[in-house]
Amino acid sequence: MSDILPTVPSADSAAHPPAGSTENVPGAAPGSPPVGDCAVAAGAGAAFGPATLIRIVLVGTQHPGNIGSAARAMKTMGLSRLVLVAPQRAPDVDAWALAAGADDVLNDAVTVATLGEAVADCRFVLGCTARSRRIALDELMPRDAAARALAEVAGGAQVALVFGRERTGLTNDELQLCHVAVHIPANPEYSSLNLAAAVQVLSYELRLAMLASQALPAPAPAPTGAGRDDLPASHAQLEGFFAQLAQTLEAIDFHKGRAPESAMRKLRRLYLRADLDEREVRLLRGILADAERMAMLAGQRS
Ligand code: SAH
Repeated sequence: MSDILPTVPSADSAAHPPAGSTENVPGAAPGSPPVGDCAVAAGAGAAFGPATLIRIVLVGTQHPGNIGSAARAMKTMGLSRLVLVAPQRAPDVDAWALAAGADDVLNDAVTVATLGEAVADCRFVLGCTARSRRIALDELMPRDAAARALAEVAGGAQVALVFGRERTGLTNDELQLCHVAVHIPANPEYSSLNLAAAVQVLSYELRLAMLASQALPAPAPAPTGAGRDDLPASHAQLEGFFAQLAQTLEAIDFHKGRAPESAMRKLRRLYLRADLDEREVRLLRGILADAERMAMLAGQRS
């Protein structure tokens, strides 16, 4: 069980009038995120249908006003599950002022320490990025991303849309935890939207996709999850597999002195693309365990 607590307004914040800037503010003072013991899945709020399986994850947000604006953007589009990963400052008077009535989304927001915790039970994780990275990830346009997300949700999957810090975005390590990257095709010379504006664009595309799927006579078929015996592997199961894979590659001396990162990045991409189910992950982990055992026996013999 992860250390999570619904984020609640302080008495102080309720008593103060709305405060100033709504924009990205660099260098905000760090604060300690609240922790407790309920699950990320708790913040389901008032949304229903496919929206309950979709969460918006804000990583390391610097300005609480942007958390409030993001909550407002979500609520206008029928989304309600907000997860905050180690915000530099917890939601305060600015957040509530800019939420402008989306208080339920803020009240139900849960705070966790790491992105891994925020997406542990997700089967599809989309990382929103203002610029193309060297990282080997497939990149989708918002419309295609929303369609993919809805198709996953139709198969019963939990889905996360992940947004980065105002100043520096998501780290490459954080993007590694995502199945795909999403880029809003903005002006290439000025491509970085305000955090809440980016949340608005993606939430709007999700809403269009939800409305379109409701208009169809039958639910759109899911590209994954449908018609197979086992559930698609969760994020946490895949991370367990990747950790074991890294350990086995060391044990069989696969890297031969080279840095392991490059091979691991390629392997992560390959296995994420393969859309493994739980049984397949168990099979692969069994192979790794045997490979490691044989390597150990070979080491003892020589
Ligand atoms: N200077 C940062 C931008 C951070 S903006 C950078 O270069 O990465 C804060 C967050 O808003 C980003 O991490 C991303 O999640 C989202 N965002 C902003 N502009 C975006 C765009 N054009 N496409 C997709 N996401 C975007």
